[in-house]
Amino acid sequence: MVKEADILRKAIGIDLGGTKISGGIVNAQGEIIERIERDTGKKVGSTEVLNRLALVINELLGKERDIVGIGIGSPGFIDTIEGKVLTVGGNIYKWAFTDIRGNLSRVFPQYQIFVGNDANVAGLCEGWIGASKDLDSFIMMTLGTGVGGCIYTKNEGIWHGKNFQAGELGHAILYPNGRKCTCGQKGCLEQYISGTGIENSYKEQTGMKKRGEDIFSTYNTDENSKKVIEDFAFNLSVFISTMKNAFDPQGLVIGGGIINSRDIWWDLMIENYKNYVNDTNGMTIVPAIYLNDAGIIGASKLAFDNINEALRFPPLL
Ligand SMILES: [Zn+2]
Repeated sequence: MVKEADILRKAIGIDLGGTKISGGIVNAQGEIIERIERDTGKKVGSTEVLNRLALVINELLGKERDIVGIGIGSPGFIDTIEGKVLTVGGNIYKWAFTDIRGNLSRVFPQYQIFVGNDANVAGLCEGWIGASKDLDSFIMMTLGTGVGGCIYTKNEGIWHGKNFQAGELGHAILYPNGRKCTCGQKGCLEQYISGTGIENSYKEQTGMKKRGEDIFSTYNTDENSKKVIEDFAFNLSVFISTMKNAFDPQGLVIGGGIINSRDIWWDLMIENYKNYVNDTNGMTIVPAIYLNDAGIIGASKLAFDNINEALRFPPLL
């Protein structure tokens, strides 16, 4: 039975992105009851980003007295035990090796702070109250500026891997010796099916620049856009077939900004998938539900799931 005290619990969830920090107070049902947004700052460096994170947290704490903990979703390889960024800091300038929890715990010593990779945190949200809430196992892919991923089972939670690099689906090699990736490899999935990848495909094909959303919106009027999107749907479906064969999950959730234009490519991708995969049974493919809010909600879930009640300070009077 759920105790009344549990229903009333609230946590802070922070979605740290390359352009903005979105923070919210989330209740035990997964609803965002307060939210604020601040610029992350371009090229300001880790100290300033940490300062801005602290300001967002401080502002949220001012709105709600009884917060059980703080969760943060960050780009990069994240050591979730230590709350630190490892060798790759994603799209935040000089973010690698930042001790997120260590620094923020000095500012907020009375709160337990948890840090996870942003795509993993988005997966937690979908598994909690979103598209995969009824699935015992699922893979989540986030298709945005880059490509993130999350591997989840109800029994084990998120699969982090030995070096906290599991679920980095965007860096699976799709085309050996293909386009150079920011990770150092060549031909990574991310270079083809992310927003940036799609824009690069268009440029490679036409010599002209076109924004990702414009490529999708001109599917019916621009032959080049059509070809780029067909290639995108093909690449995505091939990779999804690989995921099915590697993990045999109950479902696969696709989120990230590109899902907003799914009316244009979803059916094509499913059709390709059915043509290529050896067995179409067994894996449900569904779009994510929470999109922009998944980071905040999932980060709060990270806190809710990991709070050690014995170490909690009572709220200050
Ligand atoms: Zn890569």
